[in-house]
Amino acid sequence: MAILKHIDVSGGIDNALARHQRNAIFPFSRQVTGLQNCFMEYPRSISIETLVLCNATCGFCPYPDSPRKNQKMSSELFYKIIDDLKVIPETHNFYITLSRINEPLMDRRLKEFSLHIQKVFPTTKQIIWSNGTLLTKRNIEWISKIDSASFSISLNSLDDDEHKIFMGLPLPPVVRKLDYLHDLLSKNLINNDVVLYAPYLTQKQAEKFQKSCAQRYPLFKSVNRPVFTWAGGSKKGSVEILQSDPNMQNASWKKNLPCGQWFDLHILANGYVTKCCIDEAGFSDKAYNTVDNNCLDLYARTLPYRQHLPSRITVQGCEECIHLD
Ligand code: SF4
Repeated sequence: MAILKHIDVSGGIDNALARHQRNAIFPFSRQVTGLQNCFMEYPRSISIETLVLCNATCGFCPYPDSPRKNQKMSSELFYKIIDDLKVIPETHNFYITLSRINEPLMDRRLKEFSLHIQKVFPTTKQIIWSNGTLLTKRNIEWISKIDSASFSISLNSLDDDEHKIFMGLPLPPVVRKLDYLHDLLSKNLINNDVVLYAPYLTQKQAEKFQKSCAQRYPLFKSVNRPVFTWAGGSKKGSVEILQSDPNMQNASWKKNLPCGQWFDLHILANGYVTKCCIDEAGFSDKAYNTVDNNCLDLYARTLPYRQHLPSRITVQGCEECIHLD
């Protein structure tokens, strides 16, 4: 694998850390080179942010301080984007999610948009993100009727106090909705996947989350993702990283890796594409606006990254990034 020639896992680190790094580098590199087989022309995943509005105040999310708050994508642009994507062959496996720095279900058009996606791409997996507060019976009902839809819940913690600190929201109303969703699944009344997500700072915290989810919701999956610093104007997450396990803090070796995000397409509510899922601000040059450009032409602009998989330290705007996705 040519990309590994850039990676130095030696000097200045102890053996345990070097082992940890080697164990992480090889699967990740294989995963990224594997993406070249399927996603050079069409994306692995597409996110469309339709409305920048959220009812939570998560400390690690750019939303609370974002200058883009309340930005709304016009319905006209949403349908134009889907029209641009219509040439993607039916045989191409990819994901679509209508989310970004928001609670997607706060956009009352979400059902209409998701149903349109289902009509155009009946087999494409739709990931419906929510912080759980708006998983009302009515919303669960329409989402569960989309066979290819899965629920991804930013739960963050199943501990009352921790949940309030992380998200500025009380846990009990969320738990009531998750209990209902779990009950539907246990009675085979729905068959969509449900995944509970939390960031993690320490291994101990991750284990606690996994254990509490498995006990209360055995039919849901639970996933911990390492906390990261947002790119673009926002540096959210940087304070949290300082409180994380040493192997998460000593992660500068990741800057030598390529990035899986070069196989994705992300579109903000203002119509501009972003570099990746952790780029809060996106591009500001009209050449990167989906209003004036075909979405797949914009995806084609990043083809050289997918072809050559450079070390991210050589890519403008990615130099400091240690996010692996
Ligand atoms: S390396 Fe980091 S900043 Fe660059 S595209 Fe990947 S996730 Fe985004």
